[in-house]
Amino acid sequence: MEVDEEGGLMALPKPPREISADRDLAKLAPRFRAAVERVLAEMRRAGFQPAVVEALRTPERQEYLFGFGRSYDDGRGVVTQASTADWSWHGYGLAVDIVCAKRAWDAPPEFWRALGAAARDEGLVWGGDWKMRDLPHVQWGAPMRQAPSARAPKLRDEGGLEAVWRAVGAV
Ligand SMILES: [Zn+2]
Repeated sequence: MEVDEEGGLMALPKPPREISADRDLAKLAPRFRAAVERVLAEMRRAGFQPAVVEALRTPERQEYLFGFGRSYDDGRGVVTQASTADWSWHGYGLAVDIVCAKRAWDAPPEFWRALGAAARDEGLVWGGDWKMRDLPHVQWGAPMRQAPSARAPKLRDEGGLEAVWRAVGAV
């Protein structure tokens, strides 16, 4: 935040054009993608309308999100503490965010319960089970940690996302 000549706070500039979220399931780890598709099918069978709002997060989108409240703003303020996509499984094609197609994040509790149950049935981890609840978030399960360690970006830099997928048994 800059201070102008009168000592007042200068507003941050407007954000640049949005770098939109990638919803393409084809970019996810193969076994994770198959499990996510079964979760979506199970939810539809139960009468819900799930929609994937984010799959693989590119470094460009993470950088765009990190700029809010720091380099620019539109009223939403800081939206992420992570300067790179390295510290979220979204950055590796091993996490997705699923909301209700009609009510988005305002989905009723039954929707989230069904999402959690379907994810657990597939051996996946649901963000709604965490202390810091993240209801739409679903990620690959064991032997993967809850958040990537320093080994994950190293593996990716050496062998691409496939190397990370192999390490967690998601190929
Ligand atoms: Zn997520």
